[in-house]
Amino acid sequence: MRAFILLAILAWSFTLPGFAQEAKHVQRNCATDAYTQTLKAQNPEYEQLQQQAEQAVQHALKQQGNTQYLRKATTITIPVVFHVVYSSSTENISDEQLLSQLDILNADFRRKNADAVNTPSYFAPFAGDTEIEFCLATTDSNGDPTSGITRTQTTYDSFSYTSDNVKYSSRGGKDAWSRDYYLNIWICKVDDNIIGYATTPGAPAAADGVVLDYRTVGAPPFNTFKTQYNLGRTATHEVGHWLGLRHIWGNGSSCQDSDGIDDTPNQLGENNGCPSGVSISCNDSSPYGDMYQNYMDYTYDACMNLFTQGQGAYMRAVIATSRASILNSLACSGTLRSEFKTALTGDTLIVADKTIQFSDASTGVRPTAYYWEFEGGVPAISTEKNPVVKYPQPGVFDVKLTISNGSMSSTELKENYVHVTVNELVVYPNPSSDFIIIEQPARILVRNVQMVNHVGQVVLTAETRDRVLRLDVRDVPAGIYFLRLTSTNGTVIKKVSVVR
Ligand SMILES: [Zn+2]
Repeated sequence: MRAFILLAILAWSFTLPGFAQEAKHVQRNCATDAYTQTLKAQNPEYEQLQQQAEQAVQHALKQQGNTQYLRKATTITIPVVFHVVYSSSTENISDEQLLSQLDILNADFRRKNADAVNTPSYFAPFAGDTEIEFCLATTDSNGDPTSGITRTQTTYDSFSYTSDNVKYSSRGGKDAWSRDYYLNIWICKVDDNIIGYATTPGAPAAADGVVLDYRTVGAPPFNTFKTQYNLGRTATHEVGHWLGLRHIWGNGSSCQDSDGIDDTPNQLGENNGCPSGVSISCNDSSPYGDMYQNYMDYTYDACMNLFTQGQGAYMRAVIATSRASILNSLACSGTLRSEFKTALTGDTLIVADKTIQFSDASTGVRPTAYYWEFEGGVPAISTEKNPVVKYPQPGVFDVKLTISNGSMSSTELKENYVHVTVNELVVYPNPSSDFIIIEQPARILVRNVQMVNHVGQVVLTAETRDRVLRLDVRDVPAGIYFLRLTSTNGTVIKKVSVVR
């Protein structure tokens, strides 16, 4: 745990009229590392999921050039929801302040920040446009219109990363919207001079997102808090963590560890304040020393100005792997998309005369009408949201769902989606002259077949691990035979005739 150091606040880089707020944040104090440890202690599976996410990223980076979302010039847009959780009107920051934060994220991630010119010439070749953008959600998680901003009044004076209460409506905060489709950014008063923290890939869904102290959000004139962290770079830094970036110095104060990014110089520990000139903390680093201008260091907002190309590629690889669902989000599009599933988590193999429960799983704008078409089903058409359908006859059938809200519609067709089998063992044709089909119902497999003649001699045997067996009897003399069928359901005898 980093000691809190009280520093004198340096001269303001600008002046503002009116209500200057108490400047509490005198050092960048990001709690992401400590928060990650806390969350792992509470969720033992997080460690393994984080490792899997990391492996997926490394694999994706090796495939670079083949993966659509790693290739240059494919801009990724991430829908954002801001959850403002406040106990005082000062904490209930304005829409304008939030919108200025969104602008800063877009400028910083696209390297359109005005202070990009402050990147030293020796680091400028490494600086990169991540080609990641952010939009304010226009559709909420229920499919209803939204401003992309929620406001929740709370009785809590402040929130800590150890309790994480700000993320739960039942604990004075606000529940996350689905992380599959949104980047959740909570804004509140954070305890212990922490200015922000984020989940990393692999974290539990309910906690997924970024938390910012309200005083760090956006930039003047909308942000009126006089600290060195009032230019919106805390969000840039924390969203970097959310997309898998580590602090630029690695995990501890050592030149032996790394942030895992090839084009960031090796660095001993964090840089605070606003250094100048070349500062070398590790001998094996570049001749230009620490890249303290990087958003993943701890310097003042006004002194940071770049992500590297390596950091950009890493974040895009995270989006292409563990956060891939967000690529399909319609939260900023104002459109809808038909999707459906079955109650038995995608299981659509049934025996004849059984039913399947279908469920609407559409995303985007909430539909007002459903039109299902069930080939081979009863009913053949339904306008219910989650219909139950019976399949009387064996076969393989399509399912189609069209949704609409009056002005837009969307259709999903799943071809050959439902497999309906016989509901008891069948052997056909009988009599036969060439092949005998032995078919078991869904989930029962034929194992072994013996064909026995009238004096008890075995004339043919066959083995399989399939539900259906096709027995070749073209070389079997005409006559009456018994099939001894062994399956996962036991052994039965069937009488068949072969004709010539
Ligand atoms: Zn951090």
